[in-house]
Amino acid sequence: MSNVDQIRALEELAAMDAEVKALEEKLAEERGVLGGLKESLKQLDERLLTDRATVGAADKQRQELQIDIRTMTQQIEHSREKLNRSRTERESQAAQRELEELRKLVRDREDEIQRIDNDTAAVRAQVETTEAEHKALSEELAAKEGDIQAKVAQLESDRETRGGGRDVIVKRIPPVLYRRYEMIRGRRGTAIAQTADGTCNRCNMALPPQLYHRLRREPLIEQCPSCNRIIYFAPPQEATKVD
Ligand SMILES: [Zn+2]
Repeated sequence: MSNVDQIRALEELAAMDAEVKALEEKLAEERGVLGGLKESLKQLDERLLTDRATVGAADKQRQELQIDIRTMTQQIEHSREKLNRSRTERESQAAQRELEELRKLVRDREDEIQRIDNDTAAVRAQVETTEAEHKALSEELAAKEGDIQAKVAQLESDRETRGGGRDVIVKRIPPVLYRRYEMIRGRRGTAIAQTADGTCNRCNMALPPQLYHRLRREPLIEQCPSCNRIIYFAPPQEATKVD
């Protein structure tokens, strides 16, 4: 296995790994969008919870006031009968007073109901708006989730397909070199670099002149002293090819 063959295999491996990495980054990005939507949905849930509690408490109060009104209306009926039955001026006046008091109590409660309705109108409208927003967002999320799941499945099948291909490439690289490749890739994201002019095209640091001369003379595989990436000489027109 010549160095030239090994360099070729390293380049193929790096190209494949870069492609998978780009796919994974894209997926992470999509998942980030998903996370953002879920967070927004959670905020709407919290808002709905608070607003519904406010509306619920108002409704309960309203209901109690209506029960009071019903009871008082019955009492009014009762007072009216008393008034009709009253035989003396005193009895009649007492019944009248009772009636007026009851009517005032009913009016107070009606006013209170009106006040509650006015106070909660904005919250009730808000609940409707939030519910509509929630529905739209849930649908968007469901659609995106389906989309992302399809992408994940596609990526996994791509990986499966290429996995065999990757193994074939890896077999063309000496195990020690491959282990180094994986170690550097794990640390740096990319494991190979090239030099065409005496600098590393990944970290842009100048190589020691002796190293550069050796790399130029024959197809050696070395490591960049600055970034530790596997480095070899590539004529300028090829140097930009990788990536
Ligand atoms: Zn370097």
